[in-house]
Amino acid sequence: MIKACDSATLLSAVPAILTDDALELEADRLLRALLHVDCDPQGRTWNYETCRAIAPLTLEINRLKRERDAVILAHSYVEPEIIYGVADFRGDSYFLSLKAREVRARVIVFAGVVFMAETAKILSPEALVVVPDRGSGCSLADSLTGAQLRELKALYPDATVVCYINCTADVKAESDVCVTSGNVHHIVANLPARRILFVPDRLMGQNVRDELRRRGVDKEIITSDGTCMVHDQFGPADIAAARERFPGLKVVAHPECTAEVAVASDFVGSTGAMMKYVKTTAAPYYLMLTECGLVGRLQVEAPEKAFIGGCRLCPYMKLNSLEKVRDVLRAPRPDQIVTLDEPLRRRAERCIERMFELSPKD
Ligand code: SF4
Repeated sequence: MIKACDSATLLSAVPAILTDDALELEADRLLRALLHVDCDPQGRTWNYETCRAIAPLTLEINRLKRERDAVILAHSYVEPEIIYGVADFRGDSYFLSLKAREVRARVIVFAGVVFMAETAKILSPEALVVVPDRGSGCSLADSLTGAQLRELKALYPDATVVCYINCTADVKAESDVCVTSGNVHHIVANLPARRILFVPDRLMGQNVRDELRRRGVDKEIITSDGTCMVHDQFGPADIAAARERFPGLKVVAHPECTAEVAVASDFVGSTGAMMKYVKTTAAPYYLMLTECGLVGRLQVEAPEKAFIGGCRLCPYMKLNSLEKVRDVLRAPRPDQIVTLDEPLRRRAERCIERMFELSPKD
């Protein structure tokens, strides 16, 4: 465990001497990764000077990671300098939950939002799991408590409870199986129960019901009332206006969007599936109906593709910063350390492990 005043902490508080050569090399490394990002949440242009300015921070964080035996898991929606400057693994919640289960590090820094860090703690209980900013909530996860779910379960005692991974550990502990946007159709379609209580995303629940109907699968899906404050903002009018201005445009949406948006889009899928779709199709332009961080990732990983504006920022994801990642690695405050009651953690773990068992094997 890192303690606030142990000798390693005191040592790492003393900055290592950084030579000009080391800083220039680091700035070059950062520039190669960030050069194509022009969808930057802070409106920055990534050039040698901006990369040189953050090089002392990324070097210090990477040194602290080695000293602490720490890994950084970064969600695709956080700032690009975290994703490409210091993260060990980057991706969507399913990918990061797999990594949280696999890694054997003493410390996991979760650059994302708190419910994701809770998932890492559920799956890697021996690790010290920390978050750069405890205020990084989520409108979906915060829409339903475990106690509220117990009340819903009492109303529908014959339903199988399926929770989208964007929920708190309390809600996972009350659920039968967890799903992500990538495996939800497969898992729900194969559950023996016809009646499903799907929480906490009302819009995703509607999209799942519609998609399963199209596939000839008859399920009754009852939902709670949460929505993602980023994805519920898009409307079909955005799509119609963009199609008029950009002929040949492909519209790519996340299943947390409304059913009207899903119907009007060319492709609807998880973060990973959206990336794959863009990388493997040919179109003059793409409109990404999701968080802007994903557009930044695509600009790095598929620089030949053209994106028109339209993505939105998640204010919670943007609470992460390099400075906060450095500070939590130097000496985490108590509020930055994720702790869970052990019986609750075990129940939540069962719900996530069931997802791993039921996920499509590919
Ligand atoms: S983008 Fe939406 S679902 Fe994701 S963390 Fe932000 S509010 Fe939650």
